[in-house]
Amino acid sequence: MENIEIQLKAPNGRTVVLPTGLFINNEWKSGSAKRLETRSPTDEQVICSLEAASAGDIDLAVRSARAALTHASWRDISAAERGQMLHKLAALIYEHKEDLATLETWDNGKPYSVSLEEDVPEAVACLRYYAGWADKIHGQTIPTTCQKFAYTLTQPVGVCAQIIPWNYPLVMASWKLGPTLAAGCTVVLKPAEQTPLSALFLAKLVEAAGLPPGVVNIVNGRGQEAGHALASHMDVDKIAFTGSTMVGKEIMRSASLNLKKITLETGGKSPLLVFEDADIHQAAEWAFIGAMSNQGQVCTATSRLLVQDSVLPRFLSALLAIITRTVVGNPFAKDTTQGPQVTQQQYDKILSLIGVAVKEGAKVECGGQSLRETAGRGRGYFIAPTVLSGVTSSMTIFHEEVFGPVLTVTSFETEQEAVRLANDSIYGLAAALFTRDVERAHRVPQLLQSGMVWVNSSNDPNPQVPFGGIKQSGIGRELGEAGLSSYLETKSVHLNIGAKL
Ligand code: ADP
Repeated sequence: MENIEIQLKAPNGRTVVLPTGLFINNEWKSGSAKRLETRSPTDEQVICSLEAASAGDIDLAVRSARAALTHASWRDISAAERGQMLHKLAALIYEHKEDLATLETWDNGKPYSVSLEEDVPEAVACLRYYAGWADKIHGQTIPTTCQKFAYTLTQPVGVCAQIIPWNYPLVMASWKLGPTLAAGCTVVLKPAEQTPLSALFLAKLVEAAGLPPGVVNIVNGRGQEAGHALASHMDVDKIAFTGSTMVGKEIMRSASLNLKKITLETGGKSPLLVFEDADIHQAAEWAFIGAMSNQGQVCTATSRLLVQDSVLPRFLSALLAIITRTVVGNPFAKDTTQGPQVTQQQYDKILSLIGVAVKEGAKVECGGQSLRETAGRGRGYFIAPTVLSGVTSSMTIFHEEVFGPVLTVTSFETEQEAVRLANDSIYGLAAALFTRDVERAHRVPQLLQSGMVWVNSSNDPNPQVPFGGIKQSGIGRELGEAGLSSYLETKSVHLNIGAKL
């Protein structure tokens, strides 16, 4: 197929030229599955239709990634050159930041200012961080006996499948591509079907960055079809997945077919603990950021507030005052701070969970309803930022991940009770705590069952710091050196340097 590009006139007046095919072997191909339609969550209208991958197309992409792995154009280049390509890709993303931010906001619904000033820079920073790693990956020499020289080689794990979600399409692609390429692997990346656009634009930049054919393949498709084919493909060595716990379990089953290495970053129900010795205003500011950013669609959202009863009224009134600053509406409007939820399905699920919470006895402190008629003028998946108080650990909302702009408030008396409530979850992704007591600030993180703990902040990750969860929140880590190591295999070499007898 020739490269079919379409001109999209975005709601902000920008025209973006976008390929619609499957990006395989640095060429654009048609897909043999039913085409995908992507909708704007703001007005519910179809933005465009795109090629979608079938199992056969996935097989073609995997074969191209396999061939690239051992092709001289990739295998034999220096580690420093791999780093330069990553730097080039980061620079190209920055150069095209308005196009990428436009697509992201249109497709996902997040405010344009967030796409432009937070997501694009985060993607760039992640790629630059891993660009720096490319030529600093090395093995060890290991002393054994004087007849032997033993050492390790750190080598790319091979062909990687990467399945990413819809909440941070561009950022998630960069979290996956950065360490993969620094390590010298090749990749087939499948974006979420709800938000396929920014990855297509990214694919245009892959070739311009000098990456050889087959190193990065980007294929849109449905989870049950293309995602499943990728996760169960017998020639994929590693799979990195970010998404729901339910699909994560399915991926693990598929990966077991050929013992693929896996990293999973799945659901969460992260607590935020406010102790009476905290700076209450700061705690309220971070509680707001930690739960309501990105329309609450963040796996690490600290949406389960646990507040010491002596400061509960003061904390709650500070939080409610901050929430009144929220402007819900068209994500392209300058003053908007909260856009629509990503799909009708998510919108329905959030409103239904709020309904269940109220039925079970939670009190609505603010929000609790749809804003489709007001903020969206009859269209769009808008929901008011919601605070539910009086929530107890026996309620559904205390345990279920909402993935929307909903905070629950539960009170506690003692530190011991706070830790017990915090750990009362099948998840263990993140946690945050607020205290000015230096001993507590060090003691409580050790007791919390989670992969990450923020002390006196929430949800401000850095590419240098490992990210991931325990319990049913996932397996392995992304970001940092730990993220890189999941794309590397250690090979041990035993070299005999002594004549035998
Ligand atoms: P969410 O529930 O947040 O929408 P999902 O876990 O359903 O997220 O989806 C995350 C990613 O996993 C998407 O790219 C989706 O297409 C993909 N996916 C969904 N189902 C499967 C599956 N059975 N096998 C592989 N990938 C899947």
